[in-house]
Amino acid sequence: MPGDRGGDACAGAVQRRVRKDEGIAMPGKRLLIVLAHPDDETFICGGGVAAFCAAGGEAILACATRGEHGRRLGKPPYATRETLPAIREAELRQACSTLGIANLILLGLRDKCLEYEDPDALAARVAVHIRRLRPDGVLTFHERRGGHTDHCAIGRAATRAWERSGDAAWHPEQLTEGTQAFQPPRLYFLAGGDVAAHPDKHGVVPEQLTTVCCRPVAERKMRAHRAHRTQTQLDSKLWNADEAGVIERFAAGREHFQQANAPFCPGEQGLLGMYV
Ligand SMILES: [Zn+2]
Repeated sequence: MPGDRGGDACAGAVQRRVRKDEGIAMPGKRLLIVLAHPDDETFICGGGVAAFCAAGGEAILACATRGEHGRRLGKPPYATRETLPAIREAELRQACSTLGIANLILLGLRDKCLEYEDPDALAARVAVHIRRLRPDGVLTFHERRGGHTDHCAIGRAATRAWERSGDAAWHPEQLTEGTQAFQPPRLYFLAGGDVAAHPDKHGVVPEQLTTVCCRPVAERKMRAHRAHRTQTQLDSKLWNADEAGVIERFAAGREHFQQANAPFCPGEQGLLGMYV
């Protein structure tokens, strides 16, 4: 059950143990990131994703919508309701390329409407990619801490998909030669806000948390912010001439993640940062 506290052993098959002084090495590791909107991958977890990719990991983003109902249209506005979906998709593709994301999957769902999707059907749409890609980990929103109904809905779906993808009796119609029942070893939730500072408040045990210092990939993360021009042009601080200041303000901080399933690996490097 995600969130349960686990034992203190770290499964060798899951991840080669990397001590703090060895640096990060992720060749051969695959992470499936399941989010709701263009920009989530950058604004919320761009540092962790960029760090994983920079270390040789293969990140694949499944984005539920194209953010077509967003209110920000550039400054001065240059997108229209008609052009915004394609513009947001192009911005997302540029941000993915900047962060090092290897592949983008667009699930083709309607922006701001994910909560109305049938939960099991939505989970199945994620599961088919889990079963096909067989990632080492899945990263998504926590179903109650998403902060947006779309975030919570896709997080709930991805969590259910992670839980059920290994069960060949669940949506057996998906199973083909290249798509088999498979449960990824790890499920991660985004842990922004005050989760890392006050884990008890959220029912999180500290051993579940990993931390990424974004400074080594900050310039890349900042460029990914700027790739989302229709949204970030409104924030003049991101575009001013003080490049070092911009990077410090927007991209050099820490990001936190919660490993949802046991076992945890205290003091070691996970797919997304160092365990506390
Ligand atoms: Zn979002």
